[in-house]
Order: sequence, then structure tokens, then C-alpha cells
Amino acid sequence: MSETGHLETFKLFINGKSVDALSGKTFDSLNPYTGEPWARLADGGPADVDLAVEAARAAFDGSWGAMSGFDRAAIMRKIATAITDNAERLALLEVRDSGKLMREMLGQLNVLGTWYAYFSGLADKLEGRTVPAVAPRTYFGYTTREPVGVVGAITPWNSPLLLLTMKLAPLLAAGCTCVVKPSEHSPASTVAFAEILTEAGLPPGVLNVVTGWERATGEALAAHRGIDKVAFTGSTATGVKVAQAAIANVNKITLELGGKSPQVVFPDADLDAAANGLVAGVFAATGQTCMAGSRLIVHESVKDELLAKVAERAASIKQGDPTHADTEMGPVANVPQYEKVLGYLDVARAEGATIVAGGEPNAELGGLFVKPTVVLADPSATIVREEVFGPVLAAYTFTDEDQAIALANDTPYGLAGAVWTKDVHRAHRVAGAIRAGTVWINAYRVVTPNMPFGGFGLSGIGRENGVRAVDEYLEEKSVIVELTGGTRDPFKMG
Ligand code: NAD
Repeated sequence: MSETGHLETFKLFINGKSVDALSGKTFDSLNPYTGEPWARLADGGPADVDLAVEAARAAFDGSWGAMSGFDRAAIMRKIATAITDNAERLALLEVRDSGKLMREMLGQLNVLGTWYAYFSGLADKLEGRTVPAVAPRTYFGYTTREPVGVVGAITPWNSPLLLLTMKLAPLLAAGCTCVVKPSEHSPASTVAFAEILTEAGLPPGVLNVVTGWERATGEALAAHRGIDKVAFTGSTATGVKVAQAAIANVNKITLELGGKSPQVVFPDADLDAAANGLVAGVFAATGQTCMAGSRLIVHESVKDELLAKVAERAASIKQGDPTHADTEMGPVANVPQYEKVLGYLDVARAEGATIVAGGEPNAELGGLFVKPTVVLADPSATIVREEVFGPVLAAYTFTDEDQAIALANDTPYGLAGAVWTKDVHRAHRVAGAIRAGTVWINAYRVVTPNMPFGGFGLSGIGRENGVRAVDEYLEEKSVIVELTGGTRDPFKMG
């Protein structure tokens, strides 16, 4: 990294070195709060992806592939410390790139090392099984678990380092190597991250970063014949394209996609806690999280009381400079996303939704600020059915538990959801009935390295986090040994 005029510059990171794009081209990243460019990045293309994949393959076939799990774990523990040591610098890069709050990104960066510490504990425990294959004393079987190989990681613009880490920590534990293509809207932190991890001891070629403005860069990585797996986080529409490209090479795939997650509030719930959870679910991070709790399904008897609480809190949310400690909501992260959010509000109005709070840009602040918005809508409305990826809560009512469950599940997505009730029986019954990868009871937006995360339905394929996330980066091999030393009928199997 260096300064060019007032712009900080970030190159590609390939084989442990910062390099220009082969084309020499660059692009600028805008700070969504100021609307000004703040960083200049290398505009990598397919030829740069080729070099990065070559470097990742060489590392996999070389020292990294030969390293013991104990040694990989030791490096991962150093990475954990290095991230914590650099948390403030990395958080600020993410704030400048995405307009997210410093208090949120610093919080994320301060716990990010935990992912590497947690998965380092698995790096030296990749054990297989012994299997009594066929008959005793004739054959003996055992299994081994081996790294998939080179992983192409493609990440979105919200929380780039957390979403990369949910791939990188388990894949390093498994012994894989990686080429990452961060979003063109927030690429800088990933480049700085790779440099920091390399300084902490990650060998050259294990983590390579290719930034690029054109869609062709991501397309080249997803379709690359030199990789073995694609790990993607982003929208469902892009995820499908990425999966099609990967499957053409019969590559493994993990997809973490969009959501339209329900928060179901029963009449016996603590309504202050539920209102707080609704704010955390859809206004934190300006609603730009995959797990946003963007549908409120509330019992009709407490609708008015709960909506009044949420609307009051929404109106008091302090919007402004994301770097200020007391700011609660920053701008929308980029112009296309801002226009998309306002477009959805127009559609909601045209379809007859009632705006309970917000519903418009924050004219006082200008720029890309949208007021925290609550709308009362019909369950069939577009604002209820489609992912807005902004600070918009769509509310509607139910009268009994079965209807609440049916409404919660009336979506093609299935990433997350919440149940708010003090009735312990109902809480677990409803949590069990909601078709989603994560369900919180009387809570929202709690994500930890040791709890699996991923989606049902259109929300994805596979799981990140939790011990089994490592399996997403491992192949299982069966070894069968003949024990008698004799010969067998060659025309008979077994
Ligand atoms: P996006 O799908 O537009 O882009 C994601 C990444 O894919 C970017 O790096 C982009 O450059 C790249 N890309 C775009 N077209 C491509 C192509 N044809 N081939 C290969 N790569 C391509 O998503 P976004 O707008 O950056 O992020 C928002 C979306 O991400 C939302 O839908 C959100 O729900 C989802 N998301 C999901 C999770 C999760 O864990 N499930 C987390 C965060 C965000």
C-alpha cells in the first residue's frame, strides 16, 4: 500500500508479492459517505487470475501441502494475533470502502481472530476412520481426509473480511490454498489483509488476491480449470451463474446467498426486547446483511404496540459519519444499491403498503442516506417477498401459531429467522418448524465461529462455521487392503 496524491493504492497480491495488473489498469473505490474516491486499485483480469491460480497450485503442491496440521495450526494462531493487532487499520479500510460503521467493523475485526484460533484447533485433527471392509481377516479398510486443493473465493461488498474468513479459516485448516476475488465495491481491505497474513507467516501463494472492476474477473475465477472448488458469498442470481460455471468443471461449490428472514413475535413476548431485536436485525449495518430480519410477522393483538415501539426507535436512530462513535446507521454502500432500495419503496407504495416510519432518503444528510423504514404490507407484496438489502422492515400479522409458521416459511429463501416468546415449548416448536439455517430465540444477529451458518432453499448450498465447515474443504478417500495375500476370482466383485 502507498499513497498516490490523496488516494491510497492497493495492488494485486500474488505469490506473496504486491504486483500491478498485467494490463497496468486501475480503478478507484468510492467512499459512500463522502461520495469521493479514496483508494486506487489494480484492475486485474483473467490473465491475472491465471497467475494467481498458478501460485495457489504451486503452494498446494509445495510447502503448504507438505506441512503438518500442527504447523498449519501454529501459523493460524499467529494470524489470529496479527488480525487483532491490526484490527483498527483493517476496520477503517472497510468503513471507507463500504460506509459501514466503525463501531461495527471494529467489533467484527476484534473477534475475527477467533475464527482462525477456533479452526486452528481442527487443523491437527483431520482424522479418518477404520472400517471393517467386507469380511474379517480378508480386507481391511480405512479412510483419510485430504484437502480439496485450490479454492476460488468470491466475496460481496458487505463485511468483506468476515465473509472471506468464514471460508479462509476452515480451508487453511484443511490444507487448501486460495485465490480470492473481493467485490469491486469494497476491495481494499482484502488486499491489506493478505499482506498482514503473509507478514504473520502465511507462506507465499497460500492466499492470493485479484481485485477487478469488470465482472469478467469473477467469471474467470469461477470458471477456472485450475481450481478445485468455488466458495461464493453474494446474491442468489450471481450465485447461480457461479455455480453453473463451477459445475461445468465438476468443481465443488459452497454458496452463501441472499435471504428474506422472518422475525415472528408472539403476544407473550417481551416487546421491548423484540423491538430491540428488530432494530438489530434490519437497521444495524443499514440492513445490508444477508441475515437481515426483514420480515416482521407479529400477532395482531400486539401489532400496534410493537410497531409503535419500532417506529419510535427507528425515528431516533442517529445517521451520519460512519467513523463517529455515536453514529448508529451509515449510508447505503453504493449508488446502485441506494437506487435499488428507493425503487423497492416506490413499488411498496404503488402496491398499497402503509409507511409506518421513514420511507424516503434522509434529505438533511443527502448522499446515500435512507431513513430507517417500517412498512405495513400484504404478505404477497413485493417488499415482503424480495430481498431489499437495505434498512426496510416489512410487517404483517398472524392470528395463530400455524399461520405464523406458514407465513414464516412462505419464501423461497431460508437463511435465518427468529422467534420472540416467553413460552419455552412454543419457542422450540416454532424454531423447529421454521425452514432456515439459523433460528434465534429471543435474539437476533448472533454469529459465532462454532455455530454452523448457511441456508435452506435459495439461500445457499453448504455450511460455513462450526466443526463441519472443514469438511466443505476436504475429500474423503477410502483405502482397502487385501489381508490374505491370496488371489481371488477376478470376475467377482469383492
Ligand atoms: P453480488 O452477487 O452482486 O456479487 C458478489 C460477488 O460476485 C462480487 O465479488 C462480484 O464482483 C462477483 N460477481 C458478480 N458477477 C459475477 C459472475 N458472473 N461470476 C463471478 N463473480 C461475479 O452480491 P453483492 O451485491 O456484492 O452482495 C449482496 C448480496 O450478497 C445479497 O444478496 C446478500 O444477501 C448476499 N450475502 C449473503 C451472505 C451469506 O452469508 N449468505 C452474506 C453477505 C451477503
